[in-house]
Amino acid sequence: MKEQVLLGDEAVALGAVHAGLTAAYAYPGTPSTEITEFLIRYKERYGSPHAAWCANEKTAFEEALGVSMVGRRALVSMKHVGLNVAADPLMNSALLSIEGGLVVAVADDPGMHSSQNEQDSRFYADFAHLPCLEPTDQQEAYEMTREAFELSEWYRTPVIIRLVTRLAHSRAVVHLSNPVEERPLRKTTNRAGWILLPANARKQWQSLLDRENDLQERSDNSPVNHLDLNKADKSLGVITTGIARNYYFENLDDLSCKPSHLHIGMYPPPLDKMRKLAAHVNTLLILEEGYPLLERQIRGLLPRAKGDLVIHGKMDGTVPAAGELTPDIVRKSLGLEIPQGIRIDGLPLATRPPQLCAGCPHCDTYNALTHAMEGLEQSVVTADIGCYTLGALPPYSTIESCVCMGASIGMAKGASEAGYRPAVAMIGDSTFLHSGITPLIDAAAGNTDMTLVILDNETTAMTGGQDPLIPSSRLEQIVLGVGVDPNHFHVLPAHPKKVDQLAGILRTEMEHKGLSVVIAVRECIETAKRKKATAAATANR
Ligand code: SF4
Repeated sequence: MKEQVLLGDEAVALGAVHAGLTAAYAYPGTPSTEITEFLIRYKERYGSPHAAWCANEKTAFEEALGVSMVGRRALVSMKHVGLNVAADPLMNSALLSIEGGLVVAVADDPGMHSSQNEQDSRFYADFAHLPCLEPTDQQEAYEMTREAFELSEWYRTPVIIRLVTRLAHSRAVVHLSNPVEERPLRKTTNRAGWILLPANARKQWQSLLDRENDLQERSDNSPVNHLDLNKADKSLGVITTGIARNYYFENLDDLSCKPSHLHIGMYPPPLDKMRKLAAHVNTLLILEEGYPLLERQIRGLLPRAKGDLVIHGKMDGTVPAAGELTPDIVRKSLGLEIPQGIRIDGLPLATRPPQLCAGCPHCDTYNALTHAMEGLEQSVVTADIGCYTLGALPPYSTIESCVCMGASIGMAKGASEAGYRPAVAMIGDSTFLHSGITPLIDAAAGNTDMTLVILDNETTAMTGGQDPLIPSSRLEQIVLGVGVDPNHFHVLPAHPKKVDQLAGILRTEMEHKGLSVVIAVRECIETAKRKKATAAATANR
C-alpha cells in the first residue's frame, strides 16, 4: 500500500482521482482552494482528470452536474460561503436522479480565519436532504471522498463532504488504496429524473423522501458512526463529530472513567445510536465543530423519552458557541483542569494590523479615491471581497462595507437610490466576474447615479494568485456590453505616477449624475514576482 503526506484538501482531491474522477470545478476560496490547485497540478502532470476554476460556485456546480448527467464522476469544491452562491443548483440537484457520482466538497471556516461568517455546511445537507460525510483526519478525508462517490451513485444523489480549516490545512500521512477506472460515458436514460418540471419534480421529491429510511438505516449501521458504550459507568456520554474526536481523544487519558462515546462521521445522524447512548447515560456532552446541529436535534429528539437527561454543549454554554474548538476547550468542557503553560515573555513588539503589500496597485487606487473625496460633505463607499477589503483599515479607512461577493455594486445602487450620493462601489476583477456583472446590469438598466471602480490586479490575489478566467482586457467589453455609457467609462493604470490623474477622473465621475465605471489596472506585485521567478526557473532548466 502506498503512502503520501497530504493536506486534508489534497486528500479529498486524491481520493476523488482514485475514485475515477473525470472532472473537477471550483471557485477559489480559503480553506478549500488547495483541492483544485492539487487537481490542476495533477492534470498538468498526468493529463487527467479535467480540473478548472470557474466564474463562481454556481457555475462550477452546474458544470459538475453536466458531467454527472453523462455518466461520469465529478467533484465540485468551495468554501462554506461559496455554498450560498451554489445553493440554487444544490437544492434542486437533490431532486435529480444522479448518474455519475457527484461529490460536493465544502470547507467551513469556524473561527473566521478568512471569511465573513462561521456558517456550518451540515445545515445545507440537512436542508437539502443530502447525505454528508465529515472526516476526522486526512486518512478519512481520502477514504470518505471515495466512499462519497459510491454513495452518490447508489442513492443517485449528490453527497457533501464537509471539511473545516484545521483539517483542510494540516498534513498527515495518508495510506492510499488502488484507484478505480473512470466511468464510461453513458448519458442518463432517465429524462424525467433530470427535467424538474412540476409533475416530474413531485415524483422526484417523493423518491427523495422514500430513500430517507434507507439512508437512515445506512447511517445507523455505518462504521464511521461508531458507538462505544461503557457498561460499567453510566455517568457521562460524549458525542463527537469531525475533528472534535481528535481533541476528545487527546484528553481521554486524563479522565478518571472512560465515558461512553458516539462518534458521528455520516449524516443523516444515526438516530438509533443516539437514542441508545442517551438511554444509557445520565449526562451527555456534545462536541461538534460549527453550529450545534446535533445538539438541537438531540434536544428535540429526547426530552419526552428521557426527561432527566442532562445535555451539555454549545446551547447551554458548556462549549463556546463562537470560534473553533481546541483541545483546551474540550478539556474544560470535560471538567478537567487546564494545565498551566510556561510563560515566555517575548519582546514588546508593536501590534501590526494586516496591510496591503508595499507597492500594491490597490494603494494607488485608494490614494486616488481619498484625494477624489476631499471636501465632499457626504459619500458612501461600498466594497467587496479581496485584498482591497484592507482599504477598511488605516491608513486608508475608506471603505464602509464588505458583505458577500458582488454586494458592493448593488449596495451602492441602493444607497444612491435612497438619496445618499456620491455612491462609489469598489470591486476586484475576479469578484466582478464572479458576481458583479448582474448588479452592474441593474445599475446600467436604470443609469443609476453611482461610480463603480474595478480594481483589476489581473489575478485572484487573496487566494494565492489564480489566473483570471478571461484576460483583463476583456473586462472593457463586458462593461460596455451591458450598456455603460462609453463617455463615462475609463481605464487607467493604478500607479503612483497616475494617482492625481485617477483622482481627477474619479472626482469628475462622482459629480456626474449617472452611472460611471473606472477600471484601475496593474498586476498584483506578488503575482508578477511569482511569474518572473517561474519564468527564470524555466529558462534555467
Ligand atoms: S497580494 Fe497583490 S493584490 Fe494583494 S495586497 Fe499584495 S500586492 Fe496587493
